[in-house]
Amino acid sequence: MQSQHRSMQTHPHATAPTRDSVTTILSDGSRPFMYPSDTRGTFTTARRIVAYTLIVFYLSLPWIKINGYPAVFLDIALRRFHLFGLTFAAQDMWLLFFVITGLGFTLFFITALLGRVWCGWACPQTIYLEHIYRRIEVLVEGDSLKRRALDEAPWNAEKISKRVIKHGLFFITSLILTHLFLAYFVSIREVWKMITSAPTEHWGTFVFIMAYTGLTYYIFCWFREQICIVICPYGRLQSVLTDDDTITIGYDSLRGEPRGKAGAPGAGDCISCNRCVSVCPTGIDIRQGLQLECVGCTACIDACDNVMDRLKRSRGLIRYASQNKLLRKPTRFLRPRVILYGFFLVIGASVASWAISTLKPANLGVTRMVGAPYIMDAHTIRNQYLVRIVNKRNTSTQFLVHIKNAPEGLVQSGLTTSLEIPALSEVAAPLILQQTDTTYKGAFLFTVELEDSTHSFLLKRTTEFLGPDPQFNLK
Ligand code: SF4
Ligand code: SF4
Repeated sequence: MQSQHRSMQTHPHATAPTRDSVTTILSDGSRPFMYPSDTRGTFTTARRIVAYTLIVFYLSLPWIKINGYPAVFLDIALRRFHLFGLTFAAQDMWLLFFVITGLGFTLFFITALLGRVWCGWACPQTIYLEHIYRRIEVLVEGDSLKRRALDEAPWNAEKISKRVIKHGLFFITSLILTHLFLAYFVSIREVWKMITSAPTEHWGTFVFIMAYTGLTYYIFCWFREQICIVICPYGRLQSVLTDDDTITIGYDSLRGEPRGKAGAPGAGDCISCNRCVSVCPTGIDIRQGLQLECVGCTACIDACDNVMDRLKRSRGLIRYASQNKLLRKPTRFLRPRVILYGFFLVIGASVASWAISTLKPANLGVTRMVGAPYIMDAHTIRNQYLVRIVNKRNTSTQFLVHIKNAPEGLVQSGLTTSLEIPALSEVAAPLILQQTDTTYKGAFLFTVELEDSTHSFLLKRTTEFLGPDPQFNLK
């Protein structure tokens, strides 16, 4: 935890961290349940607009059709992945390496510059928790104090009815989110078919839906901030990805300390109202410096700004700023880690763009058939191959296959030179090549070429025709 408080250590008025453990683990190992207060303000409104826009975006992807398929459709059963109009086959999975490393370096780059802005503004965990489940909870049970009082109250008609409504809404929300999540993998049409048919017709999926709904309900009903604090590795990486020039949410202790009542002589601007702590969904006190649990949700900024407004003081006692800025030192945006992450980000994005732009609407694989490398009959040498062609288009396509660089006298059978492959289908056909001993002059390389009838692309695979050493008399 020490590294999380580095700037506060050097500050003349800083409040020393009072903890050597995360906020949600008490000394006896138990977990205190969080009751964050509601807050209002510019950042809360902006985050809510961003959150609901993203929720609509996440949930609409399986409904929006591009090139005849949902914008995001990860068809695991057929091993076809449709992403915003592009179709990837299982053979294109090498691209995942660039996608994953590209996303990793994007996150590193953004974190080095802006801290955990992803967590606070765009992560589905925060968005669903703060802008759906927490809103339901506040609507049914009221704000922080009322929720805490209800938890501690004996079971009575009011408590039972509020709990039934809240958990009922939580369960329905989890069920809807699970179905829409499932639509990413099986399409909305299939999900609807499942909903309108008996569970006995799709037991496997039904069990998955129930289990995933249960997990979603458990996470957003009870486990909540623990995902960010205990499970998610990103939060733990924060201290190695950020430095004192990173823009994070911080407390201006030069301005706020020493704390005291409003108007008290010599007192700073912080009046110790603890409003910033009461709104924090992870229960931390941002005045103790940047901490592992801070998900950058901005609630403490709005809470403190509201207090400052009431006191007629300028806003921003808690604000987005680098630790250096809070110490009245200049902030350096261009620094080695930002340049390095940015460099890898540009390299990754360029390679990924190039790789995607060179993607072909088909895949071609040529492998030697299992068994002997070649077969010799009375006067012929024969090689057998298995040619796999994947049509990644959403329409049936006429493909042409050519053998190039072959020596004279090579006879081709099996795979025809022209074949029709239905949309998103795969054909595996044997290709048999043979030569007579009169034309055979030893092993050679040849190329199998694949194109469509409009010659819109060309795929090539070079392989070897094997046979005995021609010095030996085949006869
Ligand atoms: S909300 Fe602002 S004034 Fe109140 S305790 Fe937090 S930092 Fe101090
Ligand atoms: S410290 Fe502030 S920004 Fe960080 S999680 Fe708590 S309320 Fe959100």
